[in-house]
Amino acid sequence: MSLDVSRKDAQPATPPSAGQNGNGNGVAVLQNMATTQHRLRLHPNTEHKPESYDGLQLDFNPLLFSSLERYLPPPMLSLSRDSKLHYMRDIILRYSPEGERNRVQRHREYRQRIISHYQPLHRELYTMHASNFFVPSFLKAINENKEETFRSIMAEPSPGVFTFEMFQPRFCELLLSEVENFEKWVHETKFRIMRPNTMNKFGAVLDDFGLETMLDKLMEDFIRPIAKVFFQDVGGSTLDSHHGFVVEYGIDRDVELGFHVDDSEVTLNVCLGKQFSGGELFFRGVRCDKHVNTDTQSDEVLDYSHVPGRAVLHRGRHRHGARATTSGHRVNLLLWCRSSVFRELRKYQKDFSTWCGECQREKKVRQRASIAATKLELLKRDGKPAT
Ligand SMILES: [Zn+2]
Repeated sequence: MSLDVSRKDAQPATPPSAGQNGNGNGVAVLQNMATTQHRLRLHPNTEHKPESYDGLQLDFNPLLFSSLERYLPPPMLSLSRDSKLHYMRDIILRYSPEGERNRVQRHREYRQRIISHYQPLHRELYTMHASNFFVPSFLKAINENKEETFRSIMAEPSPGVFTFEMFQPRFCELLLSEVENFEKWVHETKFRIMRPNTMNKFGAVLDDFGLETMLDKLMEDFIRPIAKVFFQDVGGSTLDSHHGFVVEYGIDRDVELGFHVDDSEVTLNVCLGKQFSGGELFFRGVRCDKHVNTDTQSDEVLDYSHVPGRAVLHRGRHRHGARATTSGHRVNLLLWCRSSVFRELRKYQKDFSTWCGECQREKKVRQRASIAATKLELLKRDGKPAT
């Protein structure tokens, strides 16, 4: 079994070296790093009320700073907002060396070029209007915001894979028609667009033509509350960025999608339509980086058939793929939700991942071996002849 691990965005793990820094930012990173003795906390300080970083000219989402603040070493919490901001910015910049920042800037310009030329067809899609978008049962569950109400609208056909009614048929229709309109514009203007990821040749990035704000809201107000309950172990409560796109399958589109993991902590996958057969999703267990190619256990096998309007929510590290769409045309909305806090903390984590099926299996095997060894030791002792 081999995995084509789709990584749209590279995650550089090493800080820029002193030699390659052409600007003051990079140098500051290294100096501050050297004077910092403290490590981030392993668990957030939930008692602490973070500062608001809204309204500042920041390179990153203000929410990211508020969530990261809860992980600061205790002595730092009493420092000024500016000092905390600098410290956290340095941490975040380590993921974002110069090349990455240029890439981000180029992408921002690319997005701006599209948005200033493309005329949206259904403007009502571009701001969140919950009662028009979602089915009443979903809205009610979100408003109550309790595990049992979430469970009452969901099926969990395999541990960690949740499915539920989410979008109204009208919303699906409008979004499909907006995507068609966008593709028509792309075709007519011969605009060279970037496809959603390395594995799909068809489909479009919704964030690139104006839907970013709406999708941010979708993640923050509707997915994060659920992820906080069911995916706490992969940063579900600290989701702070997303990649939103549609994929299109059919004989004249992408036909199937190989076995892979997503570059996300939590993935929302909703079928928008239209008429199709085939295209089942198959799941084969959650794995950490180290175990991504290990065998599937029989209780990890799940095959799921898409239903328009119905959502599937799972960990990004839940290995999956899509079977061939044998007839018709299928379009799915994907929202890859990420947590920068989770990604930072994972670097300090050396032991078993609680969410990786193989880590848990190894842990059990070791525990069993250790119990067996203890038993053997006791038996030997008991069997010794009395002297
Ligand atoms: Zn593992």
